[in-house]
Amino acid sequence: MAQPQSIPLTVAGSLVPGAMNVPSEQPSAPSKMTARDAGRMSAGALFRGAYVHVPFCRHKCHYCDFYSFVDTEDRALAYVERLEEELRDAVEFLTVPIETVFVGGGTPTMLGADLLRRMLASIRKTLPIASSAEWSVEANPETVDEAVADALAQSGVRRVSLGAQSFNPKLLKALERDHDPSSVERAVTLLRRAGIPQVNLDLIFAIPGSTIADWEADLLRALSIAPDHLSAYGLVYEPNTPLTVKLRKGSVTRLPEDDEAEQYEFVVEKLSKSGYERYEISNWSLSGMACQHNILYWENADWWAFGPSAAAHGHGVRWRNIPRLATWLETRPSAPVEDIECLAPDASAGEAFMLGLRLMKGMPLERVERLLIGGERSVRRRRSIETFTAEGLLERVDGHLRLSTRGFMIADTVLSALI
Ligand code: SF4
Repeated sequence: MAQPQSIPLTVAGSLVPGAMNVPSEQPSAPSKMTARDAGRMSAGALFRGAYVHVPFCRHKCHYCDFYSFVDTEDRALAYVERLEEELRDAVEFLTVPIETVFVGGGTPTMLGADLLRRMLASIRKTLPIASSAEWSVEANPETVDEAVADALAQSGVRRVSLGAQSFNPKLLKALERDHDPSSVERAVTLLRRAGIPQVNLDLIFAIPGSTIADWEADLLRALSIAPDHLSAYGLVYEPNTPLTVKLRKGSVTRLPEDDEAEQYEFVVEKLSKSGYERYEISNWSLSGMACQHNILYWENADWWAFGPSAAAHGHGVRWRNIPRLATWLETRPSAPVEDIECLAPDASAGEAFMLGLRLMKGMPLERVERLLIGGERSVRRRRSIETFTAEGLLERVDGHLRLSTRGFMIADTVLSALI
């Protein structure tokens, strides 16, 4: 789902800021820090992206560490009203046109058609959004009906990202996903009929008990829908999730590493033969359909974040709104923030390499040179880059430094050395 909270190295890791596995109802002391404090600390940031986190889900999947939960108190309207206030409060920090808006979660489509319309209209009316901005919304296939599809299309949403994960009932059960596989095709039909021009499907591989034949069947079914974009992540055993507890207790068996690697290699080959361009370790699109919002994360650009648990970045400063709906609803007008981290230049450079080299095109060489100026770690980084280049794991192509085909296969090792 949609947000980089931590930055995973593994090809399995989803790079999407915005969620933590924190139970929603734990009491917490109100934070003294707010998004305003973070905005002041990130002076000079040019926020080109906006991320909005909607924390509601129909059901909590046991592998998920995003901040999301089943709302038994019907707080969707309160959420939208509070969000509107947060939007107004942040606007003075947003000094350049916003090029990408990403509404993730959780399951934004749980809000239903009317509240979705209201929320999207408020974002458009309040923030300085470029007329050409990319608007993306995440959806769970079961929550897309005709009214929701129309609300999204009529609100100017151009991309909908559907959490399909698998089409195999046995594997969906292993993930504790509760949707019917056929709901994916039905949702895509409704979205296209409503006029949504770009549809992404999220898939998960290396699910316990899966075989290469299962994965091939999943990919073939996904391709039969002709999505404009595909994300394929290996299953991640995030700390403190129920899935990881089951793994520790032995009631779940992790797929062997070789099988996971085989499934990853299979998707790389299959999608390239099917006309999809891989533009990032785990993301493929038809020509011109790459997700600009995610590229902004990988390029370590600046984005503002709204909603409980949403994470933001501005000019080397990272912060996260409190991952607790009740506290976020009550603390106003600026969003309560649980921590603000000012990255030292060296840490910031390490992060830039870790993110930027996930992109197939890599990083512009002038940027690489700028990031290698000064400090002992820079000397070590430069040495590592030259060694990896000599070994054929990194390459300089079209004015960029990038991972080679072989380098992508062991991206974790290469990127770890450059952090
Ligand atoms: S639907 Fe997505 S966000 Fe919600 S619990 Fe499942 S994986 Fe997490």
